[in-house]
Amino acid sequence: MIPLSLPDWFRMFLVVNLSVVFAVTLYYSVRGYRRMPRHRAAPFIFRCSVCGHVYVDRRNVPMSECGKCGAMNESIKSF
Ligand SMILES: [Zn+2]
Repeated sequence: MIPLSLPDWFRMFLVVNLSVVFAVTLYYSVRGYRRMPRHRAAPFIFRCSVCGHVYVDRRNVPMSECGKCGAMNESIKSF
């Protein structure tokens, strides 16, 4: 069998390329992990029983005050 010896410049080229690929992979995986979107609170939809005004409240409350007439209303739907 013929002994294969890689030239030094080729070995260096290979090591540098693999290092760059490894560094980029590491960088993007860490970046992607850090940039995970936070779960936003689903908006709650309210319909006023007095004036019929439909509005949204992002707070997780069972009842919300109508912006027009001030009556307290229960949530009708949340996503
Ligand atoms: Zn109202």
